[in-house]
Amino acid sequence: MTNRDGENVVCPLFAGILALQGDFEAHRKAIELAGGHAIEVRTLADLEQCAGLIIPGGESTTMLKLLDEEGLTEPLKRFSQHKPVYGSCAGAILLAREVTHPAQPSLGLMDITVERNAYGRQIDSRIARIPMTEGGDMEAVFIRAPIIRRLGPGSSVLAQYNGDPVWVEQGRNMVTTFHPELSGDPRVHRRFLDKLL
Ligand code: GLN
Repeated sequence: MTNRDGENVVCPLFAGILALQGDFEAHRKAIELAGGHAIEVRTLADLEQCAGLIIPGGESTTMLKLLDEEGLTEPLKRFSQHKPVYGSCAGAILLAREVTHPAQPSLGLMDITVERNAYGRQIDSRIARIPMTEGGDMEAVFIRAPIIRRLGPGSSVLAQYNGDPVWVEQGRNMVTTFHPELSGDPRVHRRFLDKLL
C-alpha cells in the first residue's frame, strides 16, 4: 500500500476484542503489551476491520445473548471461516462445539467439549503455575473456569493444569481456560498475534 506521496506504508493488523461484556479492557492492554494493535468490537463494522478476534472472559450466557441482540452471531461464524479466534474462559465456552454443566448453545468454532464452572464453588478461583508443553511454565489466573473434557482431532495442548488441558490450539483457533490478560505474561497474546495475516 502506498500513500499520496508514493511511499510504502505498512497497514497495521488489528486484533479485535469483543467488547460486549467481560474483561475486554484487560485484553486490549495485553495485546498492546505484546506489541500489537487492538480495537474493541461492538458492531459488524468493527468486526470487519479485524484480522482476528479475541472473545474475553465474562459470563458466557450473557455474551451469547448480547451477540444475538447485536446481530453478531452469524457474522462471527463467517468471520471465523477465514480468521483466527481466541477465546479466554467464557470465550472458550463460546468457541466449544459442546458445552455441559449445564448444556448451552455456543458458536462451535472448535471441536472440544467444555464443562462450565468445573472446579466447583469452594475453589472456583486461584492463581497457579502451569507447565507448558514446549517447556517452562507460566502463571495462570483461573476464575470460575471451565475444564476442557474432550479434544477433537488436530488439537495441540500448549499448557495443562492438574493433567487437564488449559491452553489448546486447533487450526487457527485457540482457547485458554485461564486469563493470561491478568498476569502480565504476553506469551499467549503474542501467539495470537502471530496468527494474524
Ligand atoms: N463461569 C463463567 C461462564 O460460565 C466463565 C467465567 C470467566 O470467564 N471467568 O461463563
